Amino acid sequence: MSEAISQGFIDDYDVNAIRADFPILSELVHGKPLCFLDNGASAQKPQAVIDAIADTYKHCYANVHRGAYAFSEQTTANYEAAREIVRAFLNANSEKEVIFTGNATGAMNLVAHSFGRGLLKEGDEVIISAMEHHSNIVPWQMLRDEKGVELTVAPISDDGTFLLEEFKSMLSEKTKLVAITHVSNVLGSVVPLQEVVEAAHAVGAKVMVDGSQAVMHMPVDVQDLDVDFYIFTGHKLYGPTGIGVLYGKEDLLDKMPPFMGGGDMIASVSYEKSTWAELPAKFEAGTPQIVQAIGLGAAIDYVQSVGLERIAAHEQRLLNYATQRLCAVDGLRLIGTATNKTSVLSFVMDGTHPHDIATIVDRKGVCIRAGHHCAEPLMDRMGVSGTSRASLAMYNTMEEIDTLATALEKVREIFG
Ligand SMILES: *Cc1c(COP(=O)(O)O)cnc(C)c1O
Repeated sequence: MSEAISQGFIDDYDVNAIRADFPILSELVHGKPLCFLDNGASAQKPQAVIDAIADTYKHCYANVHRGAYAFSEQTTANYEAAREIVRAFLNANSEKEVIFTGNATGAMNLVAHSFGRGLLKEGDEVIISAMEHHSNIVPWQMLRDEKGVELTVAPISDDGTFLLEEFKSMLSEKTKLVAITHVSNVLGSVVPLQEVVEAAHAVGAKVMVDGSQAVMHMPVDVQDLDVDFYIFTGHKLYGPTGIGVLYGKEDLLDKMPPFMGGGDMIASVSYEKSTWAELPAKFEAGTPQIVQAIGLGAAIDYVQSVGLERIAAHEQRLLNYATQRLCAVDGLRLIGTATNKTSVLSFVMDGTHPHDIATIVDRKGVCIRAGHHCAEPLMDRMGVSGTSRASLAMYNTMEEIDTLATALEKVREIFG
């Protein structure tokens, strides 16, 4: 390893300076430095996000949209400024196309209920992929059971690559929606969205993308991709919990019925009839995630100030090094080795339960996840009951990969 890399510098990417922005990274676990490699489950927060949340509560907090007083107007302006940050982040055409939800799950349920219940009918088909998170499976199953919509699953290869040609051959005029992940939370595989969208649109189907594992690893341009819906969750993008985003094309959102009814989403209400507010309010019933949205805005500003291309380059180097180090551990097998993948390493070890691995490495301060990762059907497809998973973020280092690899060698010793 070159001296520059061992000091934490890669090109001009100063990972130590980035680490200094995340207060939690100086915590100790079991007396050892925190080695946080469970970013796919939730990422840590930079000081800028913590400050944005605390400053809101300390200096300018009120409910939004209905205040006749300056304080509420300022909070409203800050909330709407967060929406503009998200709009620019995704390159959406208009702020009307950015809906705040509670998380990615809330956004997917919104699409399933509103688009699904409102615009689909019996016999219409929804295609998902074999590597979806439960939150992009279960809402469609519920719709299938309620409305008789057909649900089919596009396959992946043994190494976790999305099979584009097989997917294309499944498309027909019955297909009304392709609901697909951008990046697998278990395998890291990146789905070739451009081709998926082009093929789906050719048969008149809409495309909803679950970008929960993508937006922190690569720039996303919804107009360039021409997706109809794009969804992500704030807490995996260094933002707070309790905030998700649904992007939808304006004409489509306009045609969709509301999901939840209540305050803020109406133009007028009488006992006979209510009318709906304009976008985006139509889909934001009740007091919205005011502070969480402001926190998310700060997270996006932070990520943008570092630059997603530079973050991606750093993470790819970490991934290459981690792949090499983990493959050298006796009896360890990576699950998910697609050519185009993000910095996620799922693995199994001969004769060792994934939970035992996570528990043992925890003693060394290493946080990894074990289990089915909210993707039970994918576990079946890969022929495993669960995996251990290290998922790397912008602040992880080569040294932390060494710590993980050493801890896994220790696991090997214990289990022989
Ligand atoms: C985490 C995750 C979700 C769900 O996010 P929530 O914040 O729990 O709603 C959905 N899809 C993928 C791919 C994820 O990784």
